[in-house]
Amino acid sequence: MPATMRAQRFYKATREWAVEDVPIPEPGPGEVLIKVEYCGICHSDLSLIDGVFGGPNVPDVITQGHEASGTIAKLGPGVIGWAEGDRVIPAAGRPCGVCDFCVRGRFGDCANLQLMAFAYDGAWAEYTLAQAFGLTRVPDNVPMDQAAILADAVSTPFGAVVHTGQVRIGEAVGVWGIGGVGTHIVQLARLVGANPILAFDIDDEIRDRALALGADAAFDSRDPDLQQKVAAATHGRLLDVAFDAVGLKTTFEQGLEMLRPGGRLVGVGMSGQEPTLGPTMVFNLLRKQALGHLGYKPEDIETLAQLVSAGRLDLSRSISDVVSLEDVGEGIRRLHERDGNPIRILVQP
Ligand SMILES: [Zn+2]
Ligand SMILES: [Zn+2]
Repeated sequence: MPATMRAQRFYKATREWAVEDVPIPEPGPGEVLIKVEYCGICHSDLSLIDGVFGGPNVPDVITQGHEASGTIAKLGPGVIGWAEGDRVIPAAGRPCGVCDFCVRGRFGDCANLQLMAFAYDGAWAEYTLAQAFGLTRVPDNVPMDQAAILADAVSTPFGAVVHTGQVRIGEAVGVWGIGGVGTHIVQLARLVGANPILAFDIDDEIRDRALALGADAAFDSRDPDLQQKVAAATHGRLLDVAFDAVGLKTTFEQGLEMLRPGGRLVGVGMSGQEPTLGPTMVFNLLRKQALGHLGYKPEDIETLAQLVSAGRLDLSRSISDVVSLEDVGEGIRRLHERDGNPIRILVQP
């Protein structure tokens, strides 16, 4: 194995980045070194570059990219159950190991979860390190490009639909923003039996795509008659669950507005904007719930990998394009400008 590798490096002070030669890291106790096959480009990666995310947890220099698949290249000391060459997905975060929850073995409840590519080096690189106990094995018949996006682009929607939104069979669901996250919310809502599924987006090409992926109807969110149309599509009931995959003031408030009494709004997309819940009198009388959502459980990636393997979940349309590591800037630009309305663009180091 060579001593150095190519890796994208983001400099916090200037918010500039470059693809550079860096030493290949050595796996520590309980860690594995992964030869990266694919790594997705996510809006949260752009948020670090744009300065929307950041803060004291981000080191001065960091490799970005947190939606990866690859093969194990080297085992660190004490790793059992894994072998070199195994096809894996690394978890996109790691528990701190020292908080009240972690010391009791409740890693899923960690109070200081460290995010891959925000607190430690990610996978826009030839190799990346991961904790062995956060790995998911990729079934033989699941392509590695689809495996890569399970780590966030599909599992965060899974968490939103299954855990936070708790969508039940027959519930009316609305999804705002049918991009990388919203697309998979539509597909997973379909999988758990939501009916009907309504998609909201300002772009008519994206609305067509939403219909092809399983939405029952798609609306322009600027339509002045939207509420009547949503009422007509739901037999007058409005929505049981609204997913805001955009995170703007307008989408969050519109989602809330389209809920039936007792309905749940699940906030998934993020921005610096500040929506309002409206008058407490209305919010409380209508018993609405506004729920913030982040992430997923580690075992959700395994569940999704099995669903893809069994042919229940088709992610073949989710890979919009693949760029080389040297061309990561082009991938970033296209996601940023929504050039071609990508669902996911992958980096292939
Ligand atoms: Zn992501
Ligand atoms: Zn912890």
